[in-house]
Amino acid sequence: MIHVYKLLRGGDYRGDEVRFPARAKEGPNRLTPPVVVWHMTDLCNLRCRHCYAAGAKSPVMPYGEACSFLDKMAETNPPSILFSGGEPLARSDFFELLDYASTLPLRVSLSTNGTLIDASAARFLKKKGVGYVGVSMDGPEAVHDAFRGVRGAFGKTLAGVRNLKKAGVRVGLRFTMVRPLLSHVPDVMKIAEEMEVDRICFYHFIASGRGRFETDLPPARAEVRAELFRIFDWVDRGGKAPREVLTVGNFSDGILLLLQLAKRGDRRAESASNLLERSRGGRSGQGIVSVRWDGALFADQFSWNLPSLGHWSDIGKLPAEPPLADHRFKGRCGECGWLSLCRGNMRARAASSRGDLLDEDPGCVLLDEELDSDFLNGGLR
Ligand code: SF4
Repeated sequence: MIHVYKLLRGGDYRGDEVRFPARAKEGPNRLTPPVVVWHMTDLCNLRCRHCYAAGAKSPVMPYGEACSFLDKMAETNPPSILFSGGEPLARSDFFELLDYASTLPLRVSLSTNGTLIDASAARFLKKKGVGYVGVSMDGPEAVHDAFRGVRGAFGKTLAGVRNLKKAGVRVGLRFTMVRPLLSHVPDVMKIAEEMEVDRICFYHFIASGRGRFETDLPPARAEVRAELFRIFDWVDRGGKAPREVLTVGNFSDGILLLLQLAKRGDRRAESASNLLERSRGGRSGQGIVSVRWDGALFADQFSWNLPSLGHWSDIGKLPAEPPLADHRFKGRCGECGWLSLCRGNMRARAASSRGDLLDEDPGCVLLDEELDSDFLNGGLR
C-alpha cells in the first residue's frame, strides 16, 4: 500500500506501525506477524468482472474449524485480520463468526460490496468492534451496476456506506483501476467527497479469478500514470479528499510520487523517500497473507493459482523473507535501480501475465528511463 496522503501531507494514522515498521532494509525480515486476509467464502450476490474469486460456491471451513482458525490467529497476534470473500456477508454464519472473533484479542476489519449491510448489520459490526469496513465501488450508478452484473447494486452499496457511517463504523471505498473504469476515477473521488468517507483505496488490477479471463481489463501504463497523477494532485490540493488516500497493489506508485516531488525540487521528497524505505516494497507472504475459504494459505489473494504456502495452521511457521540478493528477478525488475525499495513489486502479477514468478512486474508504472535511481544519490542524499 502507498499512503499517498501521508507521503504528501504528513500526519499519523491507524496502521502506521504496520505500513512503516521502524526497521528497514535486509533481514531478519519478519518484523511483525503478517496481516491476515481471510477469504471466508467465495459466495457472492454480485458478479463483478474483475473479481479475484470465481464465485464457484466452493466448500468452506465449517464453523468449528473456522473458530479454531480464529483461536490460532489470536495466538499469532496479527496486526489485523480482514474478513473478506467473495462477499463475507454471503456466508450464512458470518454474524456468528464475527461474534466469536469479538471474544478474542483480534483486530477485525471487513472487505465487502456493502449491499447486505442494512442498519441492523451496521450496528452489529459497531457493537462487535469491527475497526474498519472497505466497500467496493466502481463508478456512477449505471457503470457500477453493469460492471457488477446486478441492477440496483449501486443503490444498495451506497445505503450500506450510509448505514455504516450512521452506526459510527470507520468506512472507506475501494476502487479497482481496470481499463474500462479508469475514466471514472473522478466520479469515485466525488462520491468519496460527498459521502465523507474516512478512506479511499485505489487498487491496481492483478489478473486472477474471474478477472483472469477478461482480456480488456489490464490498463496501459500511460493510462494508469495519468490517473495516479490525478490522485496525487487531488490529495495535494487538500479540499474534501478523505484524510486517508492510498493506492494498493503496486509499490512503483510510491516511486512515481517520489520522482515527481524530486523533479520539482519539493522538500517533501526526502521524507517520502524515508517512508518508502520503511514500507519495504512488495511483501506478499511476509507483511500480508491470504487464507482461502478451504483453509489453504497463500502469499496473497492473487496467488491462488500458484502453489499454496501450506495450511492456515502454518502461518506462524512461514520462513523469513530471503535476502533480496537471493532473488533473480528478470527483465526490468532485474535491472531496476529501485529494486531495494520496491522488492520486485507484486510477484503474482508477473506470474499471471508472464508465467514466471521472477519475471518483471508488467504493472510497474515507471518509464524505462525512470528505473535509474542515480539522481537520488546525487540529489536528495
Ligand atoms: S521495475 Fe520492478 S522493481 Fe523496479 S520499480 Fe518497477 S516493479 Fe519495482
